[in-house]
Amino acid sequence: MTEDSTDLFDDLFARRVVPVLVPMPAPKAYSYAVPEGMAVTPGSIVQVPLGPRQVVGVVWDGVQDDAVDPKKLKAITQVFDCPPLSRDMRTFLDWVAAYTVSPPGLVARMALRAPAAFDPEPMIEGLRLTDTRPERMTPARERVIATADNGFTWTRSGLAHAAGTSSSVIDGLTAQGVFETVFMPPPPVVAAPDPDYAEHRLEGPQKQAALDLLESVDAGGFSVSLIDGITGSGKTEVYFEAIAATLKAGKQVLILLPEIALTASFMERFQDRFGSKPAEWHSDLAPRTREKVWRQVTEGGVRVVAGARSALFLPFENLGLIVVDEEHDPAYKQEDRVFYNARDMAVVRARIGDFPVVLVSATPSVESRVNGDLGRYKPIHLPTRFGDAALPDLGLVDMRRHPPERGGFLSPVLLRHIGKALERGEQALLFLNRRGYAPLTLCRVCGHRFQCPDCSTWLVEHRFRGQIQCHHCGYAERTPESCPECGTFDHLVACGPGVERIAEEVDRHFPDARTIVLSSDLMGVKRLRLELEAIAKGEADIVVGTQLVAKGHNFPMMTFVGIVDADIGLANGDPRAAERTFQLLSQVTGRAGRTGLKSLGLLQTYQPQHPVMQAIVSGDSEAFYEREIGEREKALLPPFGRLASIIVSADTRADAEGHARGLRQAAPRVSGISILGPAEAPLALIRGRHRFRLLVHGRRNSDMQAFVKTMLASGPKMRGSVSVQLDIDPQSF
Ligand code: ADP
Ligand code: ZN
Repeated sequence: MTEDSTDLFDDLFARRVVPVLVPMPAPKAYSYAVPEGMAVTPGSIVQVPLGPRQVVGVVWDGVQDDAVDPKKLKAITQVFDCPPLSRDMRTFLDWVAAYTVSPPGLVARMALRAPAAFDPEPMIEGLRLTDTRPERMTPARERVIATADNGFTWTRSGLAHAAGTSSSVIDGLTAQGVFETVFMPPPPVVAAPDPDYAEHRLEGPQKQAALDLLESVDAGGFSVSLIDGITGSGKTEVYFEAIAATLKAGKQVLILLPEIALTASFMERFQDRFGSKPAEWHSDLAPRTREKVWRQVTEGGVRVVAGARSALFLPFENLGLIVVDEEHDPAYKQEDRVFYNARDMAVVRARIGDFPVVLVSATPSVESRVNGDLGRYKPIHLPTRFGDAALPDLGLVDMRRHPPERGGFLSPVLLRHIGKALERGEQALLFLNRRGYAPLTLCRVCGHRFQCPDCSTWLVEHRFRGQIQCHHCGYAERTPESCPECGTFDHLVACGPGVERIAEEVDRHFPDARTIVLSSDLMGVKRLRLELEAIAKGEADIVVGTQLVAKGHNFPMMTFVGIVDADIGLANGDPRAAERTFQLLSQVTGRAGRTGLKSLGLLQTYQPQHPVMQAIVSGDSEAFYEREIGEREKALLPPFGRLASIIVSADTRADAEGHARGLRQAAPRVSGISILGPAEAPLALIRGRHRFRLLVHGRRNSDMQAFVKTMLASGPKMRGSVSVQLDIDPQSF
């Protein structure tokens, strides 16, 4: 039996009643009977009846104290033939549930996201050469035999492919006894990476950075390193060294990436260094692949996974390192069911598993920076770009002094520099973080604005599609020709720009240039990957894109970056707005100058004196962090204080507000914790649900979870359409 054969388990086993976590929002595990002859251990993945259904669950720890007669209990139906969740994994899942105040079953479900993978994959048929030779030799037969004559077992199609013949040739030989059929395990989803495949020579500051990092990694045990290096400084190559060391130690590696569907170039770089690609894990995987990957991760066959935040919940057989690339990225926050930040939970998982974690960013989150300053994380700096690549020169375009021509959004200077890049045969990138054609449509006659019927948002015009759409609920209608309010035809105007409109303006000025619009609503992942490759190969002159273009791509010929509206993210009143804007703008301007070519970035702004703009153009990120950290500290905002957001929603405004008030009244009095609100949530209506928000603020050492739990437990009963969402450490506040 495993590590888990403890007295506790013996006791459970003797009683033959065990707690099983089912993938439901239930507050705790349910008791099930273990049938005669069935062996289970904590962590076993089992099938149990739940109401009329059979569901997959996990045998959990602890003794069930509900004194039920085992005979009356429902029994476990089946134990799957796969490794049980380890004690560390169970501790981790319990920890996440407690921290996020979520039902443990929902958290456990994230570890079991592979519906049919719990039974072993079937063996597959293989062919092996015997001593028999065919009665008649042909050139094709000869080729097949020569190819297979190496002691290997081949699949039928694999052999046909390798020998360059059709499968029927092989069938003929098999019929004559030249091949025998054997059964073999299914092939691995990815070949094993080789830590020595193509070691890169680190240069300049990379050397010291890698030494510092390896010191922590080789020491084994829990540690957090924060690689803080400007875009293009070679951070990836540095953490590849940590991956190599971990592989050599026989352990598995998890690399978290914020936008996994778009990281084809990362996969290739990994392959160049390690000889094979990592296994991918994200929501776009085909179910069959998903099952295979899950299975092989749990059994240890897959050595490296590169995945989106959900990969953190994969039950690795022997995880020894987590890398969180672009650790500041908001995509690491899940805001659905279980609200968690994968960056923070990665640190927790490493602490529980007692192994190192590496956070990587050109613009670390304020939280991580503070942890680095305080010595909780080990800071590792890469201050210069790799090789002869230089950061782009950066400048601000004061839009009050350089207004665009009527009806346009691009100032004359910006247009001039696009033109210059084109003349040099190089590429220009225009960034605007707004999908569609125009964020608002209004009637020039009566002033009517088109609003989503179910949300408190304006409908965004998508001209390529001929629709106006809601970006929150997916509501869409054909772009109207007349105003529904006053009936006037042809007087609807698009207000403000989206990427489609910028592309139109660019086309007007540069009709001969090849312009591409990159936006998530215009293409699926496959197409996007192709477009990105095409851009990298120089098959486009001007790229207009949303934040999709900001992330990690390497476009060698991109020598001009224009930010159409640098102020866009600053306006929403969120205290994290400055940090986010700084990160996004640094990332986007970082797309330029990846090679030795001279490059330029221009930011159009109406607030050239804003600290974010000043930090970006001066390249002085230290000043920005210092100021930002100072302000957070003064206001006791994270990480100097703690926040929890409670959103109450209901079909009517009165119900939502009433329940939120009730919660506030039920709040216990705890020194150091205060409540703001209820107030209308930043989006007061989504999908017909009215939303009110309570913001709980506490000191750094406050027990927010206990506070919120008391509040929810002693607050009004949930009635009618009311629902409550709890977000510990909210992204925006
Ligand atoms: P970052 O992740 O910091 O933005 P990258 O790791 O992407 O930087 O490195 C920038 C560029 O420099 C990449 O094209 C990468 O291939 C190259 N590079 C970095 N370090 C090395 C090295 N040691 N040897 C060869 N090329 C390197
Ligand atoms: Zn809507």
